[in-house]
Amino acid sequence: MPTFSIDLKEGKLVKNSDLIVGIDLGTTNSLVAYMKDGAAVAVKDPDGKSALVPSIVHFLPEGGVLVGDEAKEKLVSDPRHTIYSVKRLMGKSYRDVKGFEQYFGYQIIDEDTESLVKIRVKDRFYTPIELSAEILKALKARIEGVLEQPVSKAVITVPAYFNDAQRQATRDAGKLAGLDVLRIVNEPTAASLAYGIGLHPDDNQVIAVYDLGGGTFDISILRIEQGVFEVLSTNGDTFLGGDDFDRVIMDFWADQNADLRSLLETDKGLRQEMRLLAESAKKQLSSSDWFEGRVGERHLEISAQQFETLIQPFVDRTIDACRSALRDAGLQASDIQHVIMVGGSTRTPLVKRSVAAFFGREVNDSLNPDEVVALGAAIQADVLAGNQKDLLLIDITPLSLGIETMGGLMDVILPRNSKVPARVGRSYTTSVDGQRNLKVAVYQGERDLVAHNRKLGEFILRGIPPMPAGLPKIEIHFILDADGILRVRAKELRSGVEQEVEMRSQYGISEEEMALMLIDSIQNAQSDMAARALLEARNEARSVLLATDRFLIQNAELFSPEEKAQITAIAGELDAAVQGEDKDLINKVLEDLNTYSAPLAHRALEANVAQALKGNKV
Ligand code: AMP
Repeated sequence: MPTFSIDLKEGKLVKNSDLIVGIDLGTTNSLVAYMKDGAAVAVKDPDGKSALVPSIVHFLPEGGVLVGDEAKEKLVSDPRHTIYSVKRLMGKSYRDVKGFEQYFGYQIIDEDTESLVKIRVKDRFYTPIELSAEILKALKARIEGVLEQPVSKAVITVPAYFNDAQRQATRDAGKLAGLDVLRIVNEPTAASLAYGIGLHPDDNQVIAVYDLGGGTFDISILRIEQGVFEVLSTNGDTFLGGDDFDRVIMDFWADQNADLRSLLETDKGLRQEMRLLAESAKKQLSSSDWFEGRVGERHLEISAQQFETLIQPFVDRTIDACRSALRDAGLQASDIQHVIMVGGSTRTPLVKRSVAAFFGREVNDSLNPDEVVALGAAIQADVLAGNQKDLLLIDITPLSLGIETMGGLMDVILPRNSKVPARVGRSYTTSVDGQRNLKVAVYQGERDLVAHNRKLGEFILRGIPPMPAGLPKIEIHFILDADGILRVRAKELRSGVEQEVEMRSQYGISEEEMALMLIDSIQNAQSDMAARALLEARNEARSVLLATDRFLIQNAELFSPEEKAQITAIAGELDAAVQGEDKDLINKVLEDLNTYSAPLAHRALEANVAQALKGNKV
């Protein structure tokens, strides 16, 4: 039910929006879509021509920014102040993008190779998050203009392979643009929803989403089961797309006109004109057999057949990637029930034919391939708004799930933003000789100490046969199903002792609480790190002390009384340091103990080997 309030600035009555919009924040183009009368529609520019907003930000000399088509015009005339492909930099450190700097016409800062990249524009530094936020603001303004109402909630799509840092950066960009990002959705999931695949609870299928844009190619294999989208595999090439098709057409023309090649190297304007003509040729050849055009006095032409020969190697590379993705998913082409085409370059007939031939079925291409991801995002938004009640779409966990380990540390087993359903296992062991029971306490949250996170429950694995500390192999499995129900299973592998409990994790925690927990973890990162370092030093010291004890007993006859006394003395020092709060002292004494005991350990090893060899000869 919409509510109304007065917009004080304008003094007009405006509708408070319950609307959640879907946004495809792309490498080359972005767009925004929403549900209108039960159908998803992409918002077009004021002329009603195109829904695409080029993902380009231009900084004006007098201050302020241009976004979209206007910014695109500045790419040639003012490349240093015109930022494109910022999505390639999201959540990346300078080290990640090293080697690709020449691809960007603008300046990437390398002040600190481990930290996230920044982009220099004039005398200011911008994060990719801030720049993406400018694109999102433009999309927000566009839809607000059309609907004449404020919009503050969105679903934003990201590639399926985006990691936690990249997803988080996308979410932050949304926040910065004044959008409450209710969900980050995988692009192939959105594309599938746009075709209505996975919208019914009893839809069970395996699909392939083939996404060939201007500069990137992705193939994703998804399994859909009862509204749950599981990414089985992804593959692709982050530098392959329609731009390559344009380039080979230019090269083809340059090969036919000897003087053109040298001109193209020096004349930027001519180069740009040729590039645009090559792109029009490519587009026209998607629906006709022949293209003719002019650059200045020059007549240029190319046939569809010639074009297909030129791009065949690129198309072959995408098919190789499809093959790898299928192999990684453990599937055959015949297991795929739908092949969905995404991205402007899938309009190329050779691409469609090759993909259809590879999968042995017709491809889904009835929707506009540029819009399909945004349309799906709008559908996902509609589901979140509660307008499609019988459907539950879950694809990521909002907070990390883990267990308490020695010293009250949070050991994350299922990181925040993991895809669900998920199943992850990890091995643990005991810390005390002869330990028979093990407490497994499960927590949710982002802080390093469990005391600061939210406890979901605990249970005790009983009946572990007595063994020296460190010997039992205890596997802890987290199994998170589509409803957000977490099952935790603990099993001691040597004895087979097993226990399983179920806990509910997603519910009972509001978005606000979740946001607070995240802010908390950022604000306290420094003190958490110090606390973690101390606890880790203590844990290590304790296990070294235990090992030293055992070592002295097992090898008693190998060491002189002085050596034993010395080791015992340093161990006593370490024991005392562990009681204190000084992690540096613990680490220093630990090192002393290691340095002193290393030659003794070596001697013990040699003696043991000699003993074993003697045994063999007998
Ligand atoms: P996207 O990154 O998904 O927006 O895809 C943009 C790419 O699709 C660009 O390389 C366009 O040149 C290309 N494209 C757009 N329309 C066509 C068409 N009719 N035929 C072939 N390629 C096209």
